[in-house]
Amino acid sequence: MDNDCLFCRIVAGEIPATVVHETDTTLAFRDIDPKAPVHVLVIPKEHHADVVTLAQNDPTGSADLLAACAAVAEAEGLIMEGFRLLFNTGGYAGQEVFHVHAHVLGGEPLGPMLARR
Ligand code: 5GP
Ligand code: ZN
Repeated sequence: MDNDCLFCRIVAGEIPATVVHETDTTLAFRDIDPKAPVHVLVIPKEHHADVVTLAQNDPTGSADLLAACAAVAEAEGLIMEGFRLLFNTGGYAGQEVFHVHAHVLGGEPLGPMLARR
């Protein structure tokens, strides 16, 4: 655990979150500032800064994370209409929390993937 990491502190129960799904290795909770009717963050319980370090260092954890995202999408009723799965990574993507997290977004048409220039 990284004591300075917001999401490690959520995993440790030090900061409250609305948890919607949990496995031995993953946790999923609602985003505090939702950008869509359904906006869930899915994280590995183990600290990795971003999806690159997760993929390079923990293939099993990467697979667990993807499976958890699918389970969340199913539980939230997103599969039929579709949804978006997003990993902001680094500065150009505007990553704010450096504990890897997948955004599961859905519940209405989400529009273009990126704002038009
Ligand atoms: P990023 O920009 O790093 O991809 O996304 C970080 C996300 O974490 C943002 O969507 C933001 O709303 C969310 N977030 C920031 N602080 C908290 C918090 O304390 N609790 C929860 N549930 N979400 C948070
Ligand atoms: Zn962390």
